[in-house]
Amino acid sequence: MLLATDLDGTLLSGSQEDRYQLYQLISNHPHIQLAYVTGRGLEMVMPLLSDPSLPTPDYIICDVGATIVDGHNLQPIGEIQAEIEQNWPGEVAVASALDAFPNLVRQDVPQERRCSYDCKPEDVTDQVRQVISQLGCELLYSAHQYLDILPRGVNKGTTLQSLIDHLGLADNEVLIAGDSLNDLAMLSLGYPAVCVGGSENRLLQMTERQSLVYHAERYGAGGIIEAFNQYGFLGEAGLAQEVGDGLPPGKSDLVVVYHRLPFEESVENGVVVERQPSSPNGIIPTLLSFFGDGKTGSWVAWSNVNPNTTGYKTRSPVDKVKYPNLAVARVNLTKQDVDIFYKKFSKEAFWPTLHTFWERATFLEEDWQVFLKVNQQFAERTAAEAAEGATVWIHDYNLWMVPAYLREMRPDLTIAFFHHTYFPSADVFNVVPWRREIIGSLLQCDFVGFHIPRQSENFIDVARGVTPIKVIERQNCAPRFLTYGCAVGLEEMTSVIEVNGRRIHLGAHPVGLDLGRITHALDDADIQQRIRDLKAELTGTKVLLSVERLDYTKGILEKLQAFERLLDEHADLIGQITLIVVCVPAAKEMTVYAELQTEIEQAVGRINGRFAEVGWSPLQFFFRKVPFDQLVAYYAVADVMWITPLRDGLNLVAKEYVATQGMIDGNGVLVLSEFAGAAAELKGALLTNPHSPHELADSAWWGLTMDPAEAKARLRDAYDAVQYYDIDRWGKDFLDAVEQARLSNLELQQQAAEQVELVGES
Ligand code: UDP
Repeated sequence: MLLATDLDGTLLSGSQEDRYQLYQLISNHPHIQLAYVTGRGLEMVMPLLSDPSLPTPDYIICDVGATIVDGHNLQPIGEIQAEIEQNWPGEVAVASALDAFPNLVRQDVPQERRCSYDCKPEDVTDQVRQVISQLGCELLYSAHQYLDILPRGVNKGTTLQSLIDHLGLADNEVLIAGDSLNDLAMLSLGYPAVCVGGSENRLLQMTERQSLVYHAERYGAGGIIEAFNQYGFLGEAGLAQEVGDGLPPGKSDLVVVYHRLPFEESVENGVVVERQPSSPNGIIPTLLSFFGDGKTGSWVAWSNVNPNTTGYKTRSPVDKVKYPNLAVARVNLTKQDVDIFYKKFSKEAFWPTLHTFWERATFLEEDWQVFLKVNQQFAERTAAEAAEGATVWIHDYNLWMVPAYLREMRPDLTIAFFHHTYFPSADVFNVVPWRREIIGSLLQCDFVGFHIPRQSENFIDVARGVTPIKVIERQNCAPRFLTYGCAVGLEEMTSVIEVNGRRIHLGAHPVGLDLGRITHALDDADIQQRIRDLKAELTGTKVLLSVERLDYTKGILEKLQAFERLLDEHADLIGQITLIVVCVPAAKEMTVYAELQTEIEQAVGRINGRFAEVGWSPLQFFFRKVPFDQLVAYYAVADVMWITPLRDGLNLVAKEYVATQGMIDGNGVLVLSEFAGAAAELKGALLTNPHSPHELADSAWWGLTMDPAEAKARLRDAYDAVQYYDIDRWGKDFLDAVEQARLSNLELQQQAAEQVELVGES
């Protein structure tokens, strides 16, 4: 069975309900093949291919019949395309011949093997017809506006007929749908056909007497559904059974989709054991807090415990007392899936690209297939949990493809996504072989949030290369964010866009701190003692501190080289400063970090070897994870925090230092890379460019020698922001913004539905 349909005015039009119903019918039907037959050029069809809510076509006939390709690989359908090609004199010949007619305005859209113009009916003169005939071409005029010059004998009908012959289909196995005069040729082929509601009058008149052309009432997709009924096209199963095949909705009004469970899960003595994390990650308690008021919700996360283990449950409560109506819904993954999806693929393909180190990335198709499979599992679990009209909050790039699957299953949901890492510009992101799929998926969201405006704007930059985007609303980034003051600053950001009739809202929401964790550490007697001990040990030297995971994005090696330069250039600092580096090692299986580790160790050895004196060494290097409370002790004694990633989504360490110094009424200086997301937010930080060895060394010197009064004033600015925009405010602001987006999209949908009704009535 082949459904051959025009796009604009037909497949892509009609009420949202009808469209979703039709798309699901086509996608889920085991026997329907789909052909897009359109006046658009192939390049303008491509954006639709990245829209996961649309059914993927098996064939694309575009350029008003002049181009025919396989919908899956975009390769021409052999002989049909070759024959068309033979009858085309070439764009230059046609365009130059028509230069003589200034009233014909060439359409500035992608075109192949045809030239299309806009003009009035009276401009299609005999002279024009003659020139076109001399060129050996076909002329097609439609909608009182469009003039298409096509290869001889080519139109939507002839090319579609060639496809039908190629597929060897019987007469009753084809259904053709259109709405304008340039669909006439295919609608008149003698197969069951439909002019959808709102079709061009001329088309309706010219097909009035054709018994196989049904004139539908409903617009666009609705008209096609009508025709399915009229012709019994879906077979005996019919419409009723095939629609609504999905699972019943769940009961959760808010579904958090996060890769990690909100507690630690392990198997001890053959039994599943759940434990509250000893040092909870700041974001998890905040996300949990949304369920504190008894809200019904779910937390979807993966688990790789063997489901046959005693005590394993797919669904279980998180904490019956604190969150009485919150359940954890597990996506069970094998160890191999976890290794590929989470550890290997995400880290080897996406992490480097997102942080602009694209040349380090490896993209393997088989890994992408695992990524898709896991994301689909997440989406299925989410769809089963979410109540009708629920809000779903998806976290981070590991789950990029969840919106695509989820939107198809559950068009009713409000989907929000928060991107926790950096997001690069199109020049970098476009190296990802699956960029269209990823962007197409994110564009299914109602709201997409990033840390800072620059990342959001980079996303738009990439999306613009995938599909036409209409900017609906922009807003200034100041005063919350820096504009021209740092590498990741921006004056304005786009806050609402429209793509294929859907509105996507965007927001900048830098993650904040759980300040209570720091207060708690500072109140701890052991930590207070530790601070005293550290101060005593480091007496007589100023302390520079650097804390980060072992990762090339963090610029550790560059910083060590800058430190060496600092000591070379400022002999007076010898014996006077100590650089403490806390570097958290990567998991053993992450071999990509091995080389960097060796280089760092060599640099540390060299610097200490060159400059150490009896009783003083310039560098103390701790290659291990330090418990958070202990880290706070380091923050408290550091005169300068030297955080210089080459690229970073945000950088929480910088904020933690500011908070600690603010709380102890210190006057520490934060020297921060202008390529960290936090640089756009933390006014008061001393910014530096880590790509410049000179600037990097200089920034440490400025930090070490800053006047204490200036340091205090700068710290206050940064601390104000850190204190105000804490983690709870982040979560609340994010969900408030999602709710605004939901209401605004709902209003638009209602308006659109009313309009369809009005047009229908008239
Ligand atoms: N951290 C820690 N112990 C360490 C080093 C870091 O607990 O030895 C914590 C640190 O307090 C911070 C987080 O790890 O909360 C690192 O977050 P950041 O945003 O700075 O960097 P990321 O690792 O997410 O790139």
